[in-house]
Amino acid sequence: MKSVVINKITIQCVLGDITKQPDIEAIVNAANAWLKPGGGVSGAIHRAAGPELEKECKKYSPIKVAEAVITKGYNLPNKYVIHCLGPRYGIDKPEEELLRRCYINVLNLADKNKITSIAFPAISTGAFGYPIKEATEVAISTVFELLKELKHIKIIRFVLFSKEDFEIYLKEIEKLEE
Ligand code: ADP
Repeated sequence: MKSVVINKITIQCVLGDITKQPDIEAIVNAANAWLKPGGGVSGAIHRAAGPELEKECKKYSPIKVAEAVITKGYNLPNKYVIHCLGPRYGIDKPEEELLRRCYINVLNLADKNKITSIAFPAISTGAFGYPIKEATEVAISTVFELLKELKHIKIIRFVLFSKEDFEIYLKEIEKLEE
């Protein structure tokens, strides 16, 4: 795990599974438009949360690209799940601005709900094909720009599923210390 503290907010990156972050209040789902289980992060979150999550999700679906909605966490160790639809690389344009909007909308929604800790997966970098290096730069720079506006969030954690992705986040977070 790597941590840096900026404006009294701790930014972390860890190698691991987004469904196994028991010390975090809200986890972010790299959702599909219909908020159905599907594969990747979404499949893992729905499996861990149980069928009640899909029931609540039905009320809000479909969602648009970069839109964020909040539900309870059910059987997850987290109180909330914030579902956000990332852009499909090469299809939903402009993808960089849309990915930026994902992080902004999720953080604003979390802060509005007085959430103090949140964990993100690398949105759009799986089935949606966004290259990890470019997506990481967007994620970190957007979060950094938003820090001074956040009133409640104290911990922002990025959870990476592979060693390669973790190393890329590590490098980008180290740049914040310079
Ligand atoms: P998207 O459709 O937005 O691309 P995916 O769920 O396919 O979302 O993948 C997003 C990223 O999350 C990928 O880098 C993938 O390797 C990673 N990932 C997959 N499962 C998990 C998990 N359980 N915890 C954390 N990250 C995961």
